[in-house]
Amino acid sequence: MSELLEGATVALGGPRGMAVTRTLPNKGRRLVGAWCFLDSYGPEDLAGTPGMRVGPHPHIGLQTVSWLVQGEILHRDSLGNLQEIRPGSLNLMTSGRGISHSEETPEVNSGVLQGVQLWVALPSTARHMAPAFTHHADLPVLPFGGLSATVLVGSLDGAASPAAVYSPLVGAEISVGAGSSGVVPLRPDFEYAVLTMDGAAEVEGHDLKPGPLLYLGEGHTSLSVSAGLPSRVLLLGGAPFEEPLVMWWNFVGRSHEEIVAARAEWETGDAFGEVHGYAGARIPAPPMPITRLLPRSRVR
Ligand code: MN
Repeated sequence: MSELLEGATVALGGPRGMAVTRTLPNKGRRLVGAWCFLDSYGPEDLAGTPGMRVGPHPHIGLQTVSWLVQGEILHRDSLGNLQEIRPGSLNLMTSGRGISHSEETPEVNSGVLQGVQLWVALPSTARHMAPAFTHHADLPVLPFGGLSATVLVGSLDGAASPAAVYSPLVGAEISVGAGSSGVVPLRPDFEYAVLTMDGAAEVEGHDLKPGPLLYLGEGHTSLSVSAGLPSRVLLLGGAPFEEPLVMWWNFVGRSHEEIVAARAEWETGDAFGEVHGYAGARIPAPPMPITRLLPRSRVR
């Protein structure tokens, strides 16, 4: 079985923000393993635009994974980290019980931006941990025939990323040379999904262009990938995440009350700390919906 999950177009950081394609959460499928959020964007020509400008905002209960195909992003957070990322290196922010951060196109930039931002839901055993941020420039790269797979987080075919994660999962970039193909070993106990970030690939017999997320489900022991043009695909997988989640705005929690408390803390408290150096305003929380937020399972 497979499902092609179409994305929704969303303005990042407000109505005048950069357009991104959001494929997770999706209408019929909220999670792939612990992966609960996937935005892809670009290639965006930054000439005459401010590029990415997402002011200080809070997170709870998740990890953010930032990975670029082209360009640069400057990250600042309430722990005092200031880190630019470029293609080939990973920014991983673990919110734990609470952190705030901003993301922007640095003043000196290559004029183009293309990449993905993902969230990993933290399991109950880790979600109240202290916040952390790590940058990884040295990630495992594995050859599979004509493919080259970079392990961003988790592990693939026994090779583990140095980035800390808290549930069994994988996130990997598979790069395919022109006219190349190969087979990536998978774990049958994981569910998987694939997104073409650049080029156009054939994945398990499906033509997959940038845009939708191809959900493949569980029970697979291998993934065949080929491409006519140089292409890059993102492989996501993980053990099915069974805890129902309440996701609202930038928060991943377990109850309505927890989200209300996190929102109030951002509006009037100081537990999310302060982001220094961002030339712009912090993002206010939207109003709570009139109805109670309900926990939702991985399949809606
Ligand atoms: Mn964020």
